Amino acid sequence: MNKKPIIGITGAYVKHNENMEGVYVHHDYHKSVAANGGIPIVLPFINAETSLETLQLCDGIILSGGEDVDPKFYGEDPHQHLGSTMPERDLAEIAIVKYALENNIPLLAICKGIQLLNVALGGTLIQDIPSQVKESIQHSQKIDRSRDSHWVTVSKDSKLFQIIGSDRVRVNSLHHQAIDKLASDLRIAAQSSDGIIEAVEYAHPTKFTIGVQWHPESMASTDKKMNNLFAEFIKSSTKL
Ligand code: MN
Repeated sequence: MNKKPIIGITGAYVKHNENMEGVYVHHDYHKSVAANGGIPIVLPFINAETSLETLQLCDGIILSGGEDVDPKFYGEDPHQHLGSTMPERDLAEIAIVKYALENNIPLLAICKGIQLLNVALGGTLIQDIPSQVKESIQHSQKIDRSRDSHWVTVSKDSKLFQIIGSDRVRVNSLHHQAIDKLASDLRIAAQSSDGIIEAVEYAHPTKFTIGVQWHPESMASTDKKMNNLFAEFIKSSTKL
C-alpha cells in the first residue's frame, strides 16, 4: 500500500494580541488535502534556510493565500492601495518555489500563491485591480468564500483543462491583486472576462505545477471540478 503523501502548506501571518501571534492556514486547506488522501502539515516561515529544511519532510507543497507580495520583490514601489505585506514570508516562499521546481516537487499555488509563484520566476503584479484595471469585474466577492462568483475561461491546451474537464467554470474570488507581466517560464491556463490571469502552469514538464487565483480549497467539498484539482495534486505527490 502506498504511503500517504505529506503536503506542506505555507502559513500566513496573524497577530491577534501579544499572546497570540503566529502562522495561520484556513481549515479548508487541511480538509481538502485530507479528503483526497494527503496528510496536511503547516509550514512556518522563519527564513529561507529553515523553509528548505521543512521541505525535506514534504511530498507536495501548497502555497496558501494571505498578505500582498512586497512589491520590492518585483522592483516596484508600493501603490496607494497595497495591502499589508510580510516580506519574510515572501523570501521564504520564493526559496520554496525555486527548490520545488529544481527538485520536481508538486506545487499547487493558491491566491497569493499564484502571485508569489509569478514573482519568484521574474514576473510582476497588478497591485490593486479596482484602481488599476479599467472596467474590471468584481474580484473581491461579498458572499461566502465557498460560493462561486465569476466565470473563468480555461485554455483547452492546459493541464488544468484536463483536470477540470471544462473550458468555462465558475470560481470564487477573494483577491485585489493579480499577475501583471507573466514570468517567461509560466503560461496562462485561465482568464476572467476582464482579462485578469486566473490560472497559470509551468511551461516545462513537471509532475504538477499549477497556480490558481481563486480558492478551490473552499469549494472542493461541494464542487467536483475543484476537488479534482486536489485529487490530481495529491496523486502527483504520492510516491509509487
Ligand atoms: Mn477573480
